[in-house]
Amino acid sequence: MDSPQSTTTELFINGIAAAPGIAIGPAYLFTKTVPRVEVKAISREEADSEIMRLRSAIARSEKELQKILAFTELKLGSQNAKIFEAQIMILGDRILLDSVEKRIREELHNAEFVIYDEISKYKKLMLEASDEYMHERAHDVDDVMNRIIRNIRDQKLFSKLEGEAIIVSETLTPADTVILSRNQVLGYATDLGGVTSHAAIISRSLKIPAVVGLHSATTHVHSGDIIAIDGYAGALIVRPQPATVETLQRKAQRIRNFEEQLHGIASLGAETPDHRRIELSANIEFPEEVEFARMQGSAGIGLYRTESQVIAKGAFPEEEEQFEAYRSVAEGMAPFPVIFRTFDIGGDKVIPDTTREQNPFLGWRGIRVMLDRPALFLTQLRAILRASAHGNVRIMFPMVSKLHEIRAAKQLLQRAKDSLTSDNIPFDPKVKIGLMIEVPSAVILAEEFAAEVDFLSIGTNDLIQYLLAVDRENSSVSQLFQHFNPAVIRAIKMIVDAGHKRHVWIGMCGEMAGDPLATVLLMGLGLDELSVNPSILPEIKKIIRSVKHKDARKVAEKMLTLSTEDEIKEFLASLVRNKIPELPIE
Ligand code: PEP
Ligand code: MG
Repeated sequence: MDSPQSTTTELFINGIAAAPGIAIGPAYLFTKTVPRVEVKAISREEADSEIMRLRSAIARSEKELQKILAFTELKLGSQNAKIFEAQIMILGDRILLDSVEKRIREELHNAEFVIYDEISKYKKLMLEASDEYMHERAHDVDDVMNRIIRNIRDQKLFSKLEGEAIIVSETLTPADTVILSRNQVLGYATDLGGVTSHAAIISRSLKIPAVVGLHSATTHVHSGDIIAIDGYAGALIVRPQPATVETLQRKAQRIRNFEEQLHGIASLGAETPDHRRIELSANIEFPEEVEFARMQGSAGIGLYRTESQVIAKGAFPEEEEQFEAYRSVAEGMAPFPVIFRTFDIGGDKVIPDTTREQNPFLGWRGIRVMLDRPALFLTQLRAILRASAHGNVRIMFPMVSKLHEIRAAKQLLQRAKDSLTSDNIPFDPKVKIGLMIEVPSAVILAEEFAAEVDFLSIGTNDLIQYLLAVDRENSSVSQLFQHFNPAVIRAIKMIVDAGHKRHVWIGMCGEMAGDPLATVLLMGLGLDELSVNPSILPEIKKIIRSVKHKDARKVAEKMLTLSTEDEIKEFLASLVRNKIPELPIE
């Protein structure tokens, strides 16, 4: 817990472990402030130097954007980098710049005000247009404007950060997390957020340690302070003393030793010593992660969060652009299967044109959005179906809460197939479909849902949130977000039994599937597939390969009789410590 603030003593702040790893280094306080612009009069003599300030700010902005563009291309591919190309084009717009310079000379106002006023006019026109594409571009214009204004003011920008740093911020969006990682980011520490927030999930994919839900990190840390984060224990240490640094370094070494033991496991199957095979696959957000998933020994993609492409771009990509991304994932993973989850927009995954809702997690999200936007849905379904001609493709629908929704989705899928057939475009007519069990109503109706599809995949991040009424993003209640709550375990059992009764396979793609404490229990409950963050996959495989299925079944039977989370966790922790003592569990 926090101790009184001081500038010399060590300070421990507890948070939530969001991505494994230990980092020690200087902090960088990341704040996203929107600059306030005031109008100021300048003298005629000052006009030239004001224009020079503007020109050098534009040159600097362009340099920054070129760097971001190059990094995004490398990390997320050229399609996702287009947004920055568009921003660079705005900076080179001669008509805009000439009119700004002219106004500075004629009106004798400061450069930041004139650029703000001129770009705001542009933005207003774009927002008034009926074209959705134009609305999206208005946000780019905003970004460019803020960048120029910051540069006119000579304010330090994150993209100029030199050297290594641990990013400390109130919150981070998924896009911030990816974009920031172009620097030498050692780790992330945020005041808000939970372990299943998408920024946390992305940190794990990027293998960057992260601690979230720290409440007061931004009040206690200043840029340049030496800090440490422990992404296993969920702690931030401000100004760590030599003894603390030594303890952390020893822990990091122990973990590295364990990781060495995992070498070679990638080529082995996820099979128990008594020959029960579990499909062990990976969760990914971007096509570029396929290579890492394969390297880690993944036997498929159990969850491809296609909405990440929408979030990174800030708009829904056209069919062709989607198809290219999906095809590269399907081809890259072939002959292993790839489960394409249709856009899961809403909740914490907001896109520019969604209206702010009072209760976004209970609002317009997942399949509800897509069924209300059949044209968008059909475009995506066509793109996925087209990719099915290039690999082993499956389709999965998120946030389904009533039967009508899955039936309507299937009808749209049929329409997408018909349209491809009449366009003479190849696809796999037998493409397998599944749905996510993320809502309590779907648990209760699991058997009926199973009858509609080829597989079910349990999304524990949302299922726990809705089952236990605990906001997955709210760090004040994060202690209540429990994988091992007996209600969660019994719900999983109900889903597995219902699905097996209908002869469909049952997977899990929520973060619980990648929790090393849960593996034996999940095997014992009868899960057929586990889809996990690729960075944890070798550990999970090691556990599967160390425990007999018949023993796991006994463990699950016992866990179903326990009635508190503490008893269940304690039992599972001692079991894992016994079997694999080196496993770095806390
Ligand atoms: C889930 O809810 O468990 C899940 C995998 O989906 P997401 O985290 O993307 O909401
Ligand atoms: Mg979900």
